[in-house]
Amino acid sequence: MTAMIGIDLGTSNSLCAVFEDGQPKLIPNSLGSVLTPSVVSISEDQRVLVGAAAKECRVTQPERCAWVFKRLMGTDRKVEIGGHVFNAPELSSLVLKSLKEDAEAYLGEEVQEAIITVPAYFNDNQRNATKLAGELAGLNVRRIINEPTAAALTYGFHDRGAEKKLIVIDLGGGTFDVTAMEIFEGTLEIISTAGESMLGGEDFTDRLLGRVLKAQQIQLEIAEVKHPLLVSRLRQECEAAKCTLATNSEAIIRIPDIQGKLAEDALTHTITRDEFLEMVDPLVKRLARPIAKAVRDSRIAPTDFHSVILVGGATRMEAVRDFIRSFFGVEPLCSHNPDEVVALGAAVQAALMQDDKAVDDMIMTDVCPFTLGTEIIKEFGRRRVDGYYFPIIHRNTTIPVSREEIVYTADPNQRQVRVGVYQGEGRKVEDNLFLGELEVTGIPPGPSGKPIHIRFTYDLNGILEVEAYLPETGKKFMTVLTQHAKLDSRSDINAAVEKLQKLKFYPRDDVKNQHLIQFAERVIGEVSPFQRDDLEMVIDQFEQSMASGDREWFERARENLLTILAELGFCYDEDDQEFSP
Ligand code: ADP
Ligand code: MG
Repeated sequence: MTAMIGIDLGTSNSLCAVFEDGQPKLIPNSLGSVLTPSVVSISEDQRVLVGAAAKECRVTQPERCAWVFKRLMGTDRKVEIGGHVFNAPELSSLVLKSLKEDAEAYLGEEVQEAIITVPAYFNDNQRNATKLAGELAGLNVRRIINEPTAAALTYGFHDRGAEKKLIVIDLGGGTFDVTAMEIFEGTLEIISTAGESMLGGEDFTDRLLGRVLKAQQIQLEIAEVKHPLLVSRLRQECEAAKCTLATNSEAIIRIPDIQGKLAEDALTHTITRDEFLEMVDPLVKRLARPIAKAVRDSRIAPTDFHSVILVGGATRMEAVRDFIRSFFGVEPLCSHNPDEVVALGAAVQAALMQDDKAVDDMIMTDVCPFTLGTEIIKEFGRRRVDGYYFPIIHRNTTIPVSREEIVYTADPNQRQVRVGVYQGEGRKVEDNLFLGELEVTGIPPGPSGKPIHIRFTYDLNGILEVEAYLPETGKKFMTVLTQHAKLDSRSDINAAVEKLQKLKFYPRDDVKNQHLIQFAERVIGEVSPFQRDDLEMVIDQFEQSMASGDREWFERARENLLTILAELGFCYDEDDQEFSP
């Protein structure tokens, strides 16, 4: 059997896992870490860097880096980095490609099949953009599954005998998802899901960043344009401070100069946990709505959930935990690493799809996150108003599902009807996402009010089949909405593949060295000018030694670089990429 991998393509971090020897296992990247930052950069020599090295580069050369592009999935937005223009699926495909290579190195075979997770609240455009990213990376995306569902699969896999009502709360870098579910006798039934695709840990960092800049009498929007290097270094300081505040009562933020350098005597800004809590309170409050909606739709009382499961790095924040604790009245559960559960669950899903023996007693059912419907005209006395939304499949209906409704022609002698297909909860179609349309033609002349049966069938892969049946003529019309036409016609895809193929990558063995260089380059901005000279010299040596092919020189230069970094107080630990301070 060919290998099928499970991928958690996150806003901040991506992971990859495989089901092996009856267990889901995480796959380490070339730096030995299971977390690959979802950051892409183009180096000065026009090569692509993905992951930790690109994240380091983000501090020193933000104009060469792209990050949080998951937020652009499903839009037409383009990002220019290092002279190349990419859309979000293309950038995501570079992350996927790097994960694919990690999996191939780990498994020792070519990997083509994958399951990719998305926030439950991703609409069809965003899902299709994710599928496209997989395709551009040379992966056959066998299924797109919801991140909370994947998280629940991990819990369900390890706790199969349980009979429980669970709610998964996933606050990642850029998105927020809530999913209620029930496990009984190995069956995992998703009951309801809700969320927000524009709320995550990055917003908490931005708040802090905005506040610190304001204290320096600088406006964030202006600083981003005028002093990008200051902002990128300060953002990193703020992210670290945010994480410190998860365990400490205060954090010190160093203020870089406008070139993004942190002098030894840099100004500092101390932030206490209470100040932070007050600052992020509006964001924490925004968690309430999706939680309340998922709970309401599940018809389970908040206090009836046996476990509240936390997923996503941003749930480590005390403010978030406090809020969840008070909402449900129970201590939230975090027995599996919140960063890893989604990818592990994706591997369990791969096992389910491959009929692996280890999961033959597990069944999973999911729901569609949004209502799907069509457009109708409403009559108010003699006034007719079009543009009203007519739901056919309601949100949180278990999938696969097939539902039929009847609509009627509006005018006498109406010969054709356009069946618009929309997704969302708005009362008017203009407030929902347009997915496509189906033209019903050949209606025989006659009075208005002729029935047309419209059937929507939504399957586990998020493919929507729309069928219209005209009883009068017995004719059937059908369309399958698998992808949004605007984003990806075949020729566009081929052009994108060609463009991506032209990009140059560092050989896998080189990624470690590139990461060390990027790390050291970031440190340059954090040491005194005097120390800087020495450090630069050692970096130059290391860079030259890499190109020389002289192994002995390379080893010596690398050792020198690690030593000077350590002397400066920056311990580079290549195994877990933890560094201090
Ligand atoms: P995604 O799945 O969207 O990639 P993750 O689950 O990896 O996101 O979470 C990333 C977010 O979690 C980032 O915003 C990061 O700053 C935040 N985060 C990670 N660890 C902590 C911590 N200890 N305290 C606060 N926030 C954290
Ligand atoms: Mg995530």
